[in-house]
Amino acid sequence: MLILVVNAGSSSLKYQLIDMEGEKVLAKGNCDRIGIDGHISHKTSDGRKLDQDCSFPTHTEAFEKLVEALTTGDASVIKDMSEISAVGHRIVQGAEIFCQTTMVTDEVIDKIDELAELAPVHNHAHALALRACKKVFSADVPQVAVFDTAFHQTMPPKAYMYGIPYEDYEKYHVRKYGFHGTSHRFVSSALAEAMGKDLKDIKVVSCHLGNGSSITAIENGKSIDTSMGFTPLDGIIMGTRSGAIDASAVTFLAKKLGLNADEMSNYLNKKCGFLGVSNISSDNREIYEAIHNGDAKAQLTADMLRYEIKKFIGSYSAIMNGLDAVIFTGGIGENSWEVREGVCTNMDFLGIKIDTELNKTVKGSLTKISVPDSKVEVWVIPTNEELLIARDTLSLISK
Ligand code: ADP
Repeated sequence: MLILVVNAGSSSLKYQLIDMEGEKVLAKGNCDRIGIDGHISHKTSDGRKLDQDCSFPTHTEAFEKLVEALTTGDASVIKDMSEISAVGHRIVQGAEIFCQTTMVTDEVIDKIDELAELAPVHNHAHALALRACKKVFSADVPQVAVFDTAFHQTMPPKAYMYGIPYEDYEKYHVRKYGFHGTSHRFVSSALAEAMGKDLKDIKVVSCHLGNGSSITAIENGKSIDTSMGFTPLDGIIMGTRSGAIDASAVTFLAKKLGLNADEMSNYLNKKCGFLGVSNISSDNREIYEAIHNGDAKAQLTADMLRYEIKKFIGSYSAIMNGLDAVIFTGGIGENSWEVREGVCTNMDFLGIKIDTELNKTVKGSLTKISVPDSKVEVWVIPTNEELLIARDTLSLISK
């Protein structure tokens, strides 16, 4: 059975065609520059490629092109789109409405669109893509929505509420939602399998560290707290996002810099983080390159990241009254031994001891990096959000 996984943004449409027998990716690509001009880059698992300038006035033309790329020409992988059994869509914000993976109907698309106020960059684009996909695929191809926020809907009110008037929470839905839920769910279930335990029996801190980063406390198999908040800006320092900052510093800076609310949001999301502190790059690799060249601000950036991750591991161990495993995932978590070592050093009071030599060799492969007598197991687990979306889609359409 073939499932198409779609991750739509306002000007891009990333996709993977997955054969669920063996969970193999047959082809993946990106239709980019939608609404500007248009470009498709498409690649099959056996290395055939299509790179072409196109015309994508809307998401509909991008869907038509991806179907064409999958079914015709040198880089095709299927004969007819009827071979695709279902489409799974990644949706960023499901708020309190969508607590689990959901079959897409017109009503669901309208609700996703209505939530655009809470996720201005993403949800409207998702709704556009969902409507376009319905036009291009026949009505009997089921479509499924998988929400980044759904995994965190199990957080208790004491974790998701902010200290604001309750009526404003009710009126404007301002609360912590959390993101990266699909990734945290994927890696925590992979961890349980690797440890040979039931996820319900272990207390886990999952660190998804990439351009965007979030850390989640998982107890009884459920997210009970997470570092991102109302938006993905909150939590630890990220590539270009500040992470947590005193709200009064935001209003103070807005006045000093003469920025309105939208401009201030742009500043906090795009100009801060590694980029802002180091004044070098938003990319972890370039930060470490600069450290090796003796750059003090790059060193400070790296120190801040490791310190903030440590604080979350400590505080989440406290709220769970224990810790059995820590997961590192995402581009940084899977690849940067320096970040992992920095976080796990001087954590033996908590029962964390890693094999520093082994850790240095691990890049993107599922590996236990803690030593045998470490009370807490530490694992590097590559994430695969697309695969989880495909699995969810398959499981929902099979019901
Ligand atoms: P996104 O959040 O956009 O999905 P990724 O999960 O791909 O991002 O993570 C991107 C980050 O991972 C970048 O900061 C990059 O420097 C870092 N990264 C990727 N590969 C490596 C590597 N080999 N060593 C260190 N850092 C890496």
